[in-house]
Amino acid sequence: MEFLLFPKKTYYLTQGYGPISYSHQGRYALDVSAAGGGSRAVYAPFTGYVAQVYVNPLDAYTIWLVSDEKVLCADNKPHYVVMQIGHPSEIADFKVGDKFKQGQFLMNDGKTGQATGEHIDLEIAVYDRKEDIRVGFYQNSYGVYGLINAVAPTKYLVLANDTKVLNDVYDGITYAIKTESEVINLEYNTGVYRTLDNIRVRTGPGINYPQKRVECLTKDGQKNATSTNPLAPAFYKTGTLFDALEIYIMNDEVWARTYSGYVNIIYKNEVNCEKI
Ligand SMILES: [Zn+2]
Repeated sequence: MEFLLFPKKTYYLTQGYGPISYSHQGRYALDVSAAGGGSRAVYAPFTGYVAQVYVNPLDAYTIWLVSDEKVLCADNKPHYVVMQIGHPSEIADFKVGDKFKQGQFLMNDGKTGQATGEHIDLEIAVYDRKEDIRVGFYQNSYGVYGLINAVAPTKYLVLANDTKVLNDVYDGITYAIKTESEVINLEYNTGVYRTLDNIRVRTGPGINYPQKRVECLTKDGQKNATSTNPLAPAFYKTGTLFDALEIYIMNDEVWARTYSGYVNIIYKNEVNCEKI
């Protein structure tokens, strides 16, 4: 499952939605620019399609992107997501229905609509049912146009681990966005897993924890060990089914606590166990 990714490789906030919010009155919008040595490039936050395009030379260009599938958000839940991006340059070539893949370059920051400087204005809405998805503007009680059903973006957006945070403070308020590592990936929740290889059983979640001996496993664990020698180092043999009672996610590693000890599910790009 994809994360709902923040659509830039650098995060420099130039306006949030605090009490003094100027053009963001009553809107959950984040303005992000290339200040502080950041990048103007905007990448697809998920795999999806263009649902609407608004190009008017007198106004802020705006584009609405919708995810094909549910994406994992910072609230640890999967949702369908609509992302509205305002003020970009060069979007006239996009057509409704255009498809894109997550991470694909889409556009650059711009200043269409007399914005003060080059930036993008981001809003998102999340949905649990495809048929509820709506795109486009509505005009709020301050007379300001925003995305229909917008929600606080910092509760849902996820920063790719390689995205640089240059400034996430506006008007004394921090608009921190959780990183991929901080968001528990629901694909690796508790439940039953099967080992795809002979997997070490350790005393803790990490390669620095020592491997257990066979005699330290539960009776059931000993039945699944590669060796019957009680003093041998403990491995669950290939095809062992085990209950993951707790999951630990650390950067590119996923570990599980089992009744007999801790086993690795993912180590960097290597998948050692699969969910049943
Ligand atoms: Zn804005």
